[in-house]
Amino acid sequence: MSDAIPLHALLGGTFDPIHFGHLRPAQALAQQINLQQITLLPNNMPPHRPQPEASAAQRVAMVELAIAGNPLFQLDTRELQRQTPSYTIETLEALRQERGNAQPLGFIIGQDSLLTLHHWYRWQDLLSVCHLLVCKRPGYPQKMDTPQRQRWLDAHLTTDATLLHRQPAGLIWLAETPLVTTSATDIRQRRRQGQPCDDLLPAAVIAYLDRHGLYRG
Ligand code: ATP
Repeated sequence: MSDAIPLHALLGGTFDPIHFGHLRPAQALAQQINLQQITLLPNNMPPHRPQPEASAAQRVAMVELAIAGNPLFQLDTRELQRQTPSYTIETLEALRQERGNAQPLGFIIGQDSLLTLHHWYRWQDLLSVCHLLVCKRPGYPQKMDTPQRQRWLDAHLTTDATLLHRQPAGLIWLAETPLVTTSATDIRQRRRQGQPCDDLLPAAVIAYLDRHGLYRG
């Protein structure tokens, strides 16, 4: 395995704001499957949901503060450089082109995203460019909502983490990650109501929210 190319994982999100529900499961996943590098990919105009409240520059600044000094994480702002919606499949295809066909790529999502994956643009192509690394998220069912989607999941599941490093794409890994109830929606709501968010996101990000008066309106 010494000449194998290490699995590179990506975590896309709106990060409006970034919080421990993104960071802690991703860190646990990294430990579990021996992942050395996770690239955070802030979305530009998320296709499936309302537009972010914080600007792209603010969301980037918050990600930078959240990962400062943590070598596991890096930031890729490519989706913010386009004027079009961020389609994960297109970003992954671009990365595949850059990194070559042998590079194992993993896209990290929460259980909620797995359940709604069939709404994503060209979702059926995702596994031809990457593995899906799924983190637990409390409050969401374990099972897919139709037998057909469950069959799709079962057909790609693996419980052998070494395969994620040996194959470039095509597998789904259901990670044993800590349950974190935090959502960005909840944080924005708490800020609006003047409630503390101390244990929900890094202190440096909270200080940034305060400095910029974010989610107060
Ligand atoms: P919002 O509340 O604004 O919808 P969010 O908190 O769900 O935002 P996103 O930036 O949309 O955060 O999420 C990016 C990715 O992180 C998604 O794949 C999502 O499933 C995952 N994720 C977010 N929060 C958690 C959490 N608490 N536990 C596990 N995964 C999470």
